[in-house]
Amino acid sequence: MNRFIDTRGNVREPLTFTEAIVKGIAPGGGLFVAERIPRLSLDEICALAALPYRERAARVYQAFDIDVPADDVAALMAQAYADNFDDPRVAPVVPLGDGLHVLELFHGPTSAFKDMALQCLPRFFEYATDAMRAAGTLDHDHLILVATSGDTGKAALEGFAGRAHVGIAVFYPDGGVSDVQLRQMTTQRGDNVAVFAARGDFDDCQTSVKRAFADAAFNERLLAEHHVALSSANSINWGRLMPQIVYYLSAYADMVAAGSVRRGQEIDVCVPTGNFGNILAAYYARQMGAPIARLLCASNENNVLTDFINTGVYDVSDRALHLTPSPSMDILVSSNLERQLFELTDRDAARVSGWMAQLATVRRFEVDAQTLARLQALYAADYVTNDDCLAAIGAIYEQTGYLADPHTAVAIQVARRLRGDRPVLVASTAHWAKFGPNVWRGLHGLTSADPLPDDVAALSGIELDRRIARATGTTVPAGIDALADAPRRFTTVVDGTTEGVESSVLSWLARER
Ligand SMILES: *Cc1c(COP(=O)(O)O)cnc(C)c1O
Repeated sequence: MNRFIDTRGNVREPLTFTEAIVKGIAPGGGLFVAERIPRLSLDEICALAALPYRERAARVYQAFDIDVPADDVAALMAQAYADNFDDPRVAPVVPLGDGLHVLELFHGPTSAFKDMALQCLPRFFEYATDAMRAAGTLDHDHLILVATSGDTGKAALEGFAGRAHVGIAVFYPDGGVSDVQLRQMTTQRGDNVAVFAARGDFDDCQTSVKRAFADAAFNERLLAEHHVALSSANSINWGRLMPQIVYYLSAYADMVAAGSVRRGQEIDVCVPTGNFGNILAAYYARQMGAPIARLLCASNENNVLTDFINTGVYDVSDRALHLTPSPSMDILVSSNLERQLFELTDRDAARVSGWMAQLATVRRFEVDAQTLARLQALYAADYVTNDDCLAAIGAIYEQTGYLADPHTAVAIQVARRLRGDRPVLVASTAHWAKFGPNVWRGLHGLTSADPLPDDVAALSGIELDRRIARATGTTVPAGIDALADAPRRFTTVVDGTTEGVESSVLSWLARER
């Protein structure tokens, strides 16, 4: 059976899959990684094309040899990838022409790629904790604590709402998410959910949540007074990463089946990157045998990863966060990069710990020449300015008829710049309707700083989406369209400090039920 080690070498006795996903993060701040990354033959990968998506996912999970019986994996996947997705293919590949192919990851209930993992992880989490409770090894509940730049929050709420023995509290940067994202989160149903606006930017919010996780006194108090332990649904959880590996293998199989690539022909994969989870999943798909040559890392004006991949220096000591039209990539510290560094150093936990310690103290680290060479053999990176992003939305629509959201537009633009001779699979991470105002700007030749015309600005996010859909012959996903009439449940604004996060959680847990 596969077991899970951590990137900083603090876990003496490796964990099982279910233990790793319930813990979320390793003691000492390291991230869990599978001891063995399985390999699939080209035949096995291509054979996925004949299966429904849920069975593709089950196959990949079984290859990892986890501590969940095959029948149970199949049953959980059948719930995770069902009619909660608005396309029966779940993650279809759409050709754009000119060797570019879009992997649409936004067909889930919240219209963002986070659903791919967050329709899956909570089910495995509930399964794992039920088993522990039945075995008498678990006598408390869990609280999922989430910092979100917009998409994770809603997808996590949707995944965990209504589940037993687990609550979820989400913190998003006040004023830092789109109108549709805001409505999605603040109208969330379920008795076990809470949503808070936190003063500050996403990095403040994420740092405070991370500190709350690390605050021993706070954790003791939660357990003593409320019988809950914290867990994470952020993309540092291995249970988030594994479902993302599935769709890259699935997409390759589909491309072969559609005749877009020859069986075994190499492709490049281009991913709009924030916390480095999605692109890391493509890396693991490559390690599992998918014929992926290069990974193209696309960033917005928060281009710390572009610089890192091009120079080997990760430096946020003198960087301010920029607000961009692609807010889910407005991130300075990309947590999942730690796993990639672990792999690039042949799993040298001591070296990774050293870099992470430097990042925490002086906000900068530099990798050695060998690690940089390995990084650059795998990755190429570039970034897109705010204005180029919006111009790209208009240009892509004009040239291909495809309406891309700002995150996807960043990736398409970078794919066009960095591509070689190989076909490129571009990850499309959100439906455009989550970001209507900037999509409208892009379609009408405005820059991100331009105000919307009065008649457009007067529309609600949903009304604007409907107008864009009519003009472009596309549709607004049903889940977003329904937000127009959904009652708002959460309005609280709190301090984005660790204190603010902790006291909000405590008073919510102490509420009358
Ligand atoms: C989360 C998100 C990203 C970034 O993905 P990472 O795995 O954090 O790199 C990109 N686009 C959208 C729309 C997202 O929601």
